[in-house]
Formats: sequence, structure tokens, C-alpha cells
Amino acid sequence: MEYFRPRSIEDAYAILDKYGTNAVPIAGSSFFMGHREELFDEVEAVVDIKRVGLAYIRASGDALHLGATTTLAEILASDVLRTGPWAVLQETVARLNIKEVRNVATVGGEVCIAGEVDLPTTLLALDAVIVLGSARGQRALALGEFHRGYLNNALERGEIVTEVRIPRLPARSGAAFSKFERTFADLPLVNVAVRVSLAPGGEVSDARVSVGAAVAVPVRSRAAEQALTGRKPTAAVITAAAAATADIECIGDIRASAELRALWVRCGAEDALLAAVRNAEG
Ligand SMILES: Cc1cc2nc3c(=O)[nH]c(=O)nc-3n(C[C@H](O)[C@H](O)[C@H](O)COP(=O)(O)OP(=O)(O)OC[C@H]3O[C@@H](n4cnc5c(N)ncnc54)[C@H](O)[C@@H]3O)c2cc1C
Repeated sequence: MEYFRPRSIEDAYAILDKYGTNAVPIAGSSFFMGHREELFDEVEAVVDIKRVGLAYIRASGDALHLGATTTLAEILASDVLRTGPWAVLQETVARLNIKEVRNVATVGGEVCIAGEVDLPTTLLALDAVIVLGSARGQRALALGEFHRGYLNNALERGEIVTEVRIPRLPARSGAAFSKFERTFADLPLVNVAVRVSLAPGGEVSDARVSVGAAVAVPVRSRAAEQALTGRKPTAAVITAAAAATADIECIGDIRASAELRALWVRCGAEDALLAAVRNAEG
């Protein structure tokens, strides 16, 4: 196996194009080294993309742009994300308790692993778009289309994730994140991210309730979103919306039963909605 560390995105694309399905891009390597040992014998080229200029956090007129190799620690330190609904990104990565992992794990790594991670749940609630690049050009997919099932995504031969783009939210929007894990260093058993936008009269004009880890890949609770939309977000409405997350079929395994996960989803949704509404109301 050969290890490449290209200095430009064009060089990275050329190597990935040359080796095709026998090449694997890596970023922080925090997942790759621990979970993809089976690839070590099969793969001819490992392409480290951390030096190709994809580590940035930029706000433009209509969106937030997160470069794929931006680390979770860089998200936590960013002044651009300190206030407003994007602060939920900091809230999310702060709940990954292991500093050493935050220092290396990247935005691209988080979204490419379709599994028990936190950031994609929050990105789904923020309507994030995944930008993919290759020697053939660029394309963009909504996060929900990018994930194709557990540990499976829409990347094609020679492609990498270059950026995650988050559209700007209307004024009077708020977002919040909630998570359940067994121990300090455990992967999430359940995570919930919510976003609400309020109309001038105080009714919820738009809502997202996104659930991860309790399911193969993050999904939205459409029933919870419907229970909020068009209504004033009173405590009773929020409790009803949280109960409506029962539309999500949770997985059960040795770490937690489906019933327990469903209960945590409901509690997490209620907590996060109360916080998001407080944020939106300023
Ligand atoms: C002990 C431990 C606990 C953890 N706890 C949590 C937690 O609670 N919550 C949480 O959210 N995360 C947690 N993580 C981090 C998470 O599990 C992954 O390790 C991390 O998200 C991977 O990021 P990375 O940049 O290191 O990816 P890598 O390991 O470099 O890559 C992961 C996969 O994505 C692919 N890939 C990476 N970047 C790109 C790209 N730009 N384009 C195309 N493919 C790409 C690689 O080919 C590989 O298959 C934990 C990790 C550890 C080790």
C-alpha cells in the first residue's frame, strides 16, 4: 500500500483517479485506522487530503461553508459559530468529550461515516448540502441523499467530499442538540438536533427534528415537524411534538433496546425544542 499526501486538490484528484476503487481518501484517520483494517490488504493507495486546502469555515451572504478537512476542534474554536443558530454546531462537537479525537476528526470524516456520529444529525436539521469533487468536476447532494444506509454513502469512484454548505436561516431561528451515551468516551446511543424558525406572530413557520444513532443514518421526524408547524411553540405543543417522534423506528442492540432509545429520542427532542425556541425568541 502506498501513502500519498498531495499538496493541492488537483493532485489529490489525479491520484484518486489513477487508482480508482483501489484508493481510499483519509482525513483525521480516527475512524479509518480503527474500523477499516479489512481494507489494508485490498487498498493500493491511501490519499491523505489534509493538506489540500479544505480546512476553512467561511460565512457568505447566503450560506456557511465548512471545508471538509476542518477539524471538530476548529469548529469549537470558531468565532463565526459563537452565536445564532450555527452555534448548535459548537454545541454538537462539544459533546464529543475526547479532546484528542476532536483535534483530528474532520467534518468530511463525520459525514462520510454513515453511522453512530453526531455532526450529521445536526447538519440534517440545518438542511446541509454535501459538495463532492473529483477530476470530473463537482456536484452537490442534500445530506439525506448522500447517506445511503449504514456505513454507506453516495461517493463514486475518485470522488471526495470537499465542503459542507449550510444555508442561512431566517431571522428568529434557533437550534439545539441533545445526546445520550453510556460513558464519557462512548459513541452516541441517541442524538437529536432540532431547528425552529418563528413567524412575526410567534408561530413556528418551519421546523426540523432530526434523529441519529438510534437509526442507521440520521432521519427527520416528519410527524414531530408537522406537530410544530403553524402553531405557537407552547410547552404543550412541544411535548406533543416530542411524543410524535414515535414515527421513528429505533434500532435495538446490545447497547440499548429499541424502547429505551425511543424514550431517549422523545426526551432529547423535548429538551432540544425548549432550548431552540428560547434561542429563536432571543
Ligand atoms: C474513541 C472515539 C470516540 C468517538 N466518539 C464520537 C462521538 O461521540 N461523536 C462523534 O460524532 N464522533 C465520535 N468519534 C469520531 C468518529 O467516530 C470518527 O472517528 C470521525 O468522525 C472520523 O473523522 P476523520 O476525519 O478522522 O475520518 P477518517 O478516519 O480519516 O475517515 C473516515 C472515513 O471517511 C472517509 N473520508 C474521510 N474524509 C473524506 C472526504 N473528505 N471525502 C471522502 N471520504 C472521506 C475515509 O475514506 C474513511 O472511510 C469518536 C472517535 C473515537 C476514536
